[in-house]
Formats: sequence, C-alpha cells, structure tokens
Amino acid sequence: MGKATGFIEFDRKTEEYRSVKVRIQDYNEIFSATHDTSHLQTQGSRCMDCGVPFCQSDNGCPVDNLIPEWNDLVYNNKWKEALVRLHKTNNFPEFTGRVCPAPCEGSCVLGMNNPAVTIKNIEMGIVDRGFDEGWVSPYSVEYRTGKKIAIVGSGPAGLAAADELNKVGHNVSVFEREDRIGGLLMYGIPNMKLGKDIVDRRVNLLQESGIKFITNVNVGKDITTSKLQDDFDAIIFTTGATSARDLTVDGRDAKGVYLAMEYLTNNTKSLLDSGQPDQSELSAKGKDVIVIGGGDTGTDCIGTAIRQGAKSVVNFELMEKPPIERADNNPWPLWPLIFRVDYGHAEANEVFGQDPRQYSLMTKSFIKDENGNLTGIKTVNVGFNDGKLIEIGGSEKIWNTQLALLSMGFVSPEHYLSDDANIDLDDRGNYNAPYGNYSTSEHGIFAAGDCRRGQSLVVWAIHEGRAVANKVNSFLSK
Ligand SMILES: Cc1cc2nc3c(=O)[nH]c(=O)nc-3n(C[C@H](O)[C@H](O)[C@H](O)COP(=O)(O)OP(=O)(O)OC[C@H]3O[C@@H](n4cnc5c(N)ncnc54)[C@H](O)[C@@H]3O)c2cc1C
Ligand code: SF4
Repeated sequence: MGKATGFIEFDRKTEEYRSVKVRIQDYNEIFSATHDTSHLQTQGSRCMDCGVPFCQSDNGCPVDNLIPEWNDLVYNNKWKEALVRLHKTNNFPEFTGRVCPAPCEGSCVLGMNNPAVTIKNIEMGIVDRGFDEGWVSPYSVEYRTGKKIAIVGSGPAGLAAADELNKVGHNVSVFEREDRIGGLLMYGIPNMKLGKDIVDRRVNLLQESGIKFITNVNVGKDITTSKLQDDFDAIIFTTGATSARDLTVDGRDAKGVYLAMEYLTNNTKSLLDSGQPDQSELSAKGKDVIVIGGGDTGTDCIGTAIRQGAKSVVNFELMEKPPIERADNNPWPLWPLIFRVDYGHAEANEVFGQDPRQYSLMTKSFIKDENGNLTGIKTVNVGFNDGKLIEIGGSEKIWNTQLALLSMGFVSPEHYLSDDANIDLDDRGNYNAPYGNYSTSEHGIFAAGDCRRGQSLVVWAIHEGRAVANKVNSFLSK
C-alpha cells in the first residue's frame, strides 16, 4: 500500500508544465520532456490503499484502472510491473495520462480531507517510462479466427475496439474519412496537449500488430454500409459526435465567425503538413479574438490563438463563475464542479495580465462592416430566476473582435451514415444502441463512443471501445 504514512508525510505536488513564457513560443507539448522518477515514487506513496478504492469505481476512473496497485508498484520502484497492470485496463494510458480530466482524483478517498493523490501524473509517468525503456511493443496474434470486422471512425473508441478484437484473433479494418488516423486525438485536441507523434506511435504499434487502417474513405458517401455488410461479419460505428452546436443569431454569416473545430483542425493540419501554423484568414495573428463557450475546446482555442499571436483573447461563458471549493450539493466523491485554471487560462493570464473568462454573458448578435467582415459582438448579462435564464436589462455591451470562435459543444453525430445504414436514433439524435449492449437496430451493426453516448471524454471512448469489442466477440462466437 505505498508507504503507510506517506499521505501524512508528503504533500500533493504534480510535475510542473513547461513555463508559460517558453511554451507559448511553440506547439510542443506543455509537459516537460522527462519525468522525475523519485518525485513520482513519493507521490505514489501517498496512496492509502483505502480498502474501497472509489478512484477506480463508479464515480472514479471509467476504465477501472487498478490505481492503488500501480501506485504501490511505483512506490516500490517496480515500473515494468506497474505498466503491465496499467495496460490490463487501459489500451492507451499515454493519451489519458495527458488529456484525462481525472475523475479518479475527484473521488480519491484521501481527497475527503486532503489533496488527492496525483493519479493522472503517475499514469503518464508509468507509460512514458514504458515507451522510453522499450517495454511497449507490437503483439503477435497466434491464432486468427477468420472473422472480419469493419470499424468506422478511428478515434479512441474505434482504436480501443480494434485493439481488443485484434488481440482475440479477428481481422480488423478501420475506415477513417480523414487523411490521418486518431479522430479527435489527431484533429481536435491540439499538439500542446497531445503531441501527434504520441498518437502516431500508438497507431503504428496497432498496425504492426495486424490492424488494417484505411484513410480518406467516408462510409455512407464513398462506400455504402451495405457493401461493408457484404464484406464483413460485423460492423462497429465509432464516428464521434461531430455535429457542432451553432449560434444562429444576427450576423452569424459575418466573415470571421468560425466553429472551433474548423479553427483547431486547420491549425493542426497545417502544422503537420508544412510545419507552420495556419496562416489563412482563420489565423488569430494580430486579432482581437473572442471564444464563445468554455470547456476543453474553448481552452484549446485560447491556447492556439495565443501561439498564433492574437492581440487579445476573451472567453465568454454563459454560466456564472463556479465556486472555488465544492458546493454543499456537490459532495465527494462526485466530480468537483469548481473553478479551475487550465493551461490556456494560465497562458492568457501571463500574456494579457488577466484571466480571459467573462461569466454570465449571452451573445445577442455579431456585428459586421459594409464588406461583411466581423467587427464586434453584442452581449447582454444573464442571471437565473427560479432556474430560468433571464437577461439583465441595460447590461448590453459591444466587444471589438475580428475573429470569433464558437465552442459550444456538439449536438450528435452527423446523420448521413445512420441514414445510409438505416439505424434508429435516440431522442438526442445519437445512434440508438443501449449502454452495455451497443447493438443498433440493424443486426450486426454496433455503435460506441461519442456517436452513441453524446459528446464525452477520451477515457469514456476507451471504455466503450473495450466494451463493444466484448459484445462483438460474443456475437461472432454464436
Ligand atoms: C477540441 C477538443 C478538445 C478535447 N479535449 C479533451 C480532453 O482534454 N480530454 C478528454 O478526455 N476529452 C477531450 N475531448 C473529447 C474527446 O476528444 C472525445 O470525447 C473523444 O475523442 C471521442 O472519441 P470517439 O472515438 O467516440 O470519436 P472521435 O474521436 O470523434 O472520432 C470519430 C472519428 O470518426 C470519423 N468518422 C466520422 N464519420 C465517419 C464516416 N462516415 N466514415 C469514416 N470515418 C468517419 C471522424 O473523422 C473521426 O476521426 C475534446 C474534444 C474536442 C473537440
Ligand atoms: S484514465 Fe483518467 S480517470 Fe482513469 S486513472 Fe487515468 S486519469 Fe484517472
């Protein structure tokens, strides 16, 4: 159990990111290139092996990582064994160790009256060490079943399903409409948070283990689902929730208003193709940028705009500022709904001298000049009355901007594939495939990840990818 008195002796301390001043000069990961082994051992020793590890149960880690076990192994300097334990439940700890919001830490028992164990940091330390030492390698599949599975969409759900089904001997082909594999791990989450070399490294391992990847094929457009049904024994849709929520107010057609994903994808593609940030009209260089909507996507827009050389960055939030500490109606072990400073906020703070977030603001309209170019945004302050959103009279304000990025979440998957496959949707417009079963209304077609559960997290996509693989394996064994 780590060190019996570790949680009393040592304070929580995460490894520091690269300094803001240095990291905003490039698009490399915000994390330091190396880990401090003895520091991570000390932090691992804080795990109390509390008996009922909430960190790996319902409110904690969605893939049920064996957290107390690998904390103990790290404390005892048994890194290779820790890596084996980690890979038992998580196909891609190098992704979650970087981007997971760590619900495990929100439900760590130590967190009831002390800062939680630095679980995510230790996870990243274990898997990075595994790669550095050459302990992670392609696996060989001894027996092939002869069954063929098509997976549509190569995000974390599709990759986890492919990995699991390949391991048990099925022949897996992954179809992706983009030119690179990885879903939002590749085009979505920016380089600063997840280096694309890290994504490619895992994809190469999967390929060397026998999984076939087919890019630039849009299923439902370039090739029909019925063709896949003819050629494969089972199909899994892991197409993500790619339909973004728009803001249909006056002036939305102004030149300079973009969906966050258009902006982020363009920049990542440009960096990967030419080594240069995006220099089209989507660039934030020299502009007053307004990001509408928060969350991970909003933070990533802030971080990208700063690196492109924005003149100013403001982030509108509809909701009020969250409390610094848990509210009474948000007790442990629930996910703490508290004020957080993510990497992009810290960078804006350092560059512009203040946090970029403006709370309780609703966008009323976009303002454009005679040539249709965006020049400003009109807002009004909002509050809540009996749970209903109300506008506060006389609080209208005009903000100068030449680039507005809409980061208000995602509604559902796009529907051309579900139309083509003739599968039912649920009342939110997601593919209807009940949790735990993953079967759509069409025999032999399954669905998992954001296209089924709605916009979520990488760790949930991995959870669903593993679970749908289990169901498909049973289906093929009948
Ligand atoms: C900007 C941004 C930042 C985020 N940051 C975080 C974070 O920090 N931490 C976190 O945990 N989560 C984060 N998320 C959420 C996370 O990325 C998603 O929950 C996760 O990637 C969902 O995985 P998925 O496999 O279900 O789908 P996706 O990753 O969306 O992958 C779906 C893939 O399917 C492909 N596809 C769709 N339709 C077809 C078709 N018809 N034919 C072929 N291919 C198709 C798409 O091109 C895409 O590549 C972020 C999301 C965004 C947008
Ligand atoms: S995957 Fe996320 S929730 Fe699970 S242990 Fe890692 S950081 Fe925690």
